[in-house]
Amino acid sequence: MGPRTCPGTVRSPVSIRAVPSRTCPATAVGRDEALGGSGYPESMADISVTPVRNPPTVATRRKTRKIHCGKVDVGGDAPISVQSMTTTLTANINATLQQIAQLTAAGCDIVRVAVPSQDDADALAAIAAKSQLPVVADIHFNPKYVFAAIEAGCAGVRVNPGNIKAFDDRIADIAKAATEHGTGLRIGINAGSLDKRLAGMYAKDPAGALVASALNEAKLFEDVGFRDFAISVKHHDPVIMVQAYRRLSEVCDYPLHLGVTEAGPAFQGTIKSATAFGALLAEGIGDTIRVSLSADPVQEVKVGVKILEAFNLRPRQFEIVSCPSCGRAQVDVYSLAEQVTEGLKDMTVPIRVAVMGCVVNGPGEAREADLGVASGNGKGQIIVKGKVIKTVPEDEIVATLIEEANRIAADFPDEGSPQVLV
Ligand code: SF4
Repeated sequence: MGPRTCPGTVRSPVSIRAVPSRTCPATAVGRDEALGGSGYPESMADISVTPVRNPPTVATRRKTRKIHCGKVDVGGDAPISVQSMTTTLTANINATLQQIAQLTAAGCDIVRVAVPSQDDADALAAIAAKSQLPVVADIHFNPKYVFAAIEAGCAGVRVNPGNIKAFDDRIADIAKAATEHGTGLRIGINAGSLDKRLAGMYAKDPAGALVASALNEAKLFEDVGFRDFAISVKHHDPVIMVQAYRRLSEVCDYPLHLGVTEAGPAFQGTIKSATAFGALLAEGIGDTIRVSLSADPVQEVKVGVKILEAFNLRPRQFEIVSCPSCGRAQVDVYSLAEQVTEGLKDMTVPIRVAVMGCVVNGPGEAREADLGVASGNGKGQIIVKGKVIKTVPEDEIVATLIEEANRIAADFPDEGSPQVLV
């Protein structure tokens, strides 16, 4: 049998160096001997690992043109932004602004609103004026709403060429109005509303058809000298979606708005979006993202933010690092992690708290966090920035962690947020 390694902590080169062996001391040798009678391996008592700041990103961003969406830049060296879309009736101005406020609080950067009727178009000016976020009007079927949105002061307009009759004939007018008002556009291609002229191609090469459609529309704008637009080529299948964005990124430098469309309910949609975005972001592709879920749009934003944080493309916020538990656990890790998460749910300072179930790698992992606990033998070793500060009984672990987390947060330097590297 090979060494008994911790299934929850096989990732960090720092802890691999710091901990001489990943063999579980409780099983490879006698427990008392391994724990030195205190519940912890003595060899770990002096190990100090500085929590990682300014971590690297997974890839160098592909160079794209920068466009403006109100106060938010998209593309170029601008941070990758998170978008969502309201689910309220746009004509209901108060309800829409209230949802925009919720999305803002969740970390959204740009918000899109649907404009299916004249009543919705009429509400745009008030929404654009009062929204904390740049507002993008989502237009299908009727080109006149494109002009209404631009004149209403929307930061951007999303047009779906496959769904707007006579759109191609109005390109010059739209480009002129957008230029005069400083409005950014998005050419939003969706598999479900692809230009019918590309149906034959789509049957054989769906990703190619999405790209061809996008480039056709881009060319129409280029021909009138307008290039202030982003492009999306969304598909519900993450594989086709990734292929389409890859191919598009090879042939143009327009900023790309990533999305897996109709991704499904929260669980499935989160996985589809995370895998597809992860594949593309790992190649430096993507300038703004929208997670599409059949769920509260606040959830979409939270997922989008976490995807970017996971790749260090957005400053990490408060984070719980907890092990998955296993047969070696000496405490109820799930309950401990849940209680600590609940107790610190309002934490706004980007500290990392580690909750580890036993002494195999618990101390090593906890030392990489700002604050952590390594549990064992009915006790918890509380570790702050690499130093063991105290050992408390198991029933005091949660309260101690919360108290220490709040103390660390109060002393946290303003400039302490990890820097986003792009
Ligand atoms: S209880 Fe947690 S820390 Fe301990 S070996 Fe299992 S997964 Fe790793």
